[in-house]
Amino acid sequence: MAGMLEKQVLSAINGNVAWPLVERFSTLERVSGSPDERQAAAYICEVLDGAGVPYNLHEPFLYLSTPGPARVTLDRRHIQARPPAFSASTPPQGVTGALVYLPSGRATSTYDLFSSDLSSLPALTGKIALVDGMPMPLKVSQVQAAGAAAGIFIHPGTGIHEGIATEIWGTPSLEDLPRKPRIPVVGVSADDAAALVEAASSQARVTIRAALEEGWYSCPLVVAEIRGEVLPEQFLLLHGHLDSWYSGVGDNATGNGALLELALAFHRNRRHMSRSLRVAWWPGHSTGRYAGSTWYSDEFALDLYDNCVAQVNCDSPGCRWATEYRHLSAMSEARDFTETVIRDVAAIDADSIETERPPRAGDYSLNNLGITGFLMLSSSMPAEKAAKEHFYTVGGCGGNVEWHTARDTMEVADRGNLLRDMWVYGAAASRVISGGILPFDFRAVTADFATSLAHYQSLAGSVFDYSECTSETHLLAQALDRFYRRSGAASTLSTDDAQSREYNLKIIGLSRLLVPINYARAGTFYHDPALNIPPLPGLAPAPVATGQEGFLRAGILRGANQYRQILSKARSLIEA
Ligand SMILES: [Zn+2]
Repeated sequence: MAGMLEKQVLSAINGNVAWPLVERFSTLERVSGSPDERQAAAYICEVLDGAGVPYNLHEPFLYLSTPGPARVTLDRRHIQARPPAFSASTPPQGVTGALVYLPSGRATSTYDLFSSDLSSLPALTGKIALVDGMPMPLKVSQVQAAGAAAGIFIHPGTGIHEGIATEIWGTPSLEDLPRKPRIPVVGVSADDAAALVEAASSQARVTIRAALEEGWYSCPLVVAEIRGEVLPEQFLLLHGHLDSWYSGVGDNATGNGALLELALAFHRNRRHMSRSLRVAWWPGHSTGRYAGSTWYSDEFALDLYDNCVAQVNCDSPGCRWATEYRHLSAMSEARDFTETVIRDVAAIDADSIETERPPRAGDYSLNNLGITGFLMLSSSMPAEKAAKEHFYTVGGCGGNVEWHTARDTMEVADRGNLLRDMWVYGAAASRVISGGILPFDFRAVTADFATSLAHYQSLAGSVFDYSECTSETHLLAQALDRFYRRSGAASTLSTDDAQSREYNLKIIGLSRLLVPINYARAGTFYHDPALNIPPLPGLAPAPVATGQEGFLRAGILRGANQYRQILSKARSLIEA
């Protein structure tokens, strides 16, 4: 239901702020730590200044890795190549070894793309592994663990997509450093790879050369803060990455423009805001594995833990042919809400709206703190359109294969689609910050937990009995039914009175308890690696060989103890 804030904000959005930014940013190669990134931040600050929107310009030191020149040499023939960020540089003479081809499937969805896996590998000691697909962290570490001297990854098309090979989330701690990739890795195009696959059949030797610059960079990080009128300490964090590969129009100049236009629209209508809105533009996303959002989540951890009601990521909205909302990220408690908002404002076929569990990717740097998140990538093109264009799965740009290449230029953006996507973000943010009961439904979370437990029971068989976890889940589900019935009655109150404040503190408390057990293994103030995390990771059984069952059971039992205690705490919280 659209309130006054939403009506005013949506009517203030017309693209007149976002589109000029997209055009300006299309002339800036906003690699993190570069002068162009600084100019982009200055542009945002100038527009915020002009409109009187308060903001902070932070200057974090981020640890980044910027890819430089690379090539593969086969029989004196040079093949064009690109190293992913945080792979190792080679010595000047390169690294030479015999090629071993490891065919593996291609990603068929963005979720797969961020969690792609190589099944059991042969020993690759001293060899150069030739692998299908982009150099995602798990594959890179698997090739490294098998002893390869280097890896060559075959991109699916005619271009090479920039990317990052480290699994370490944000700036590494001393404990994290040993997990940084130690081998050189490069990507080559599918066209150029044919000769390499052929050469691998005779174990031909190739030489890889790659140069990267790794170090500390001072980067601009802008956070606008528009204060709410009633509960100003509580805020929604709306955010996206400022840095890009090349001039990155669809990924993510469009998102930067959307965030700026939204910041101005909310500022103009702030008298209707109950809670506050923070709008953040992160550096270090592409070459620091979300280093900017991770820095912010570390520097402001206690503030975020106490006061952030939810986070919304804005990456690659407003792209060409992007007329559907499929594979949208939303945590379970925000799934219905997200789909309803889109149905209400986007004027598209309801069947083309689909949400799913967020992958361990994007700037979801607040999972360990237990903060509800929704949206990551935005609208995308229909599968039929992608097939017609002979496109393959990519991780942004609304499905346009220009993603992470120098061809991500103005023709990838679409002003009409951007306008529609801004309405989605504008309406979603309005409904969270305009006041009243927070729109997150944790009954969907216990339903998902029950499904995960049933699945895990079928996998674990007699090794572990999940029935006590299941009982605890039912008890919480029943308590949530009572809680939401009571709060539903209270939500007719239009103001943030004492009663609805109390409900909201409990809803926030539920997210602090239930988000981490479903999305994190590491503690509240740490960051899990950028590797796929299954639902309820502490309870997920792994396939084990005969004789290993006792070890599996010991691990799940510890996870089960934690699970039962946390669900019991959640029940006490809402029944207090
Ligand atoms: Zn992006």
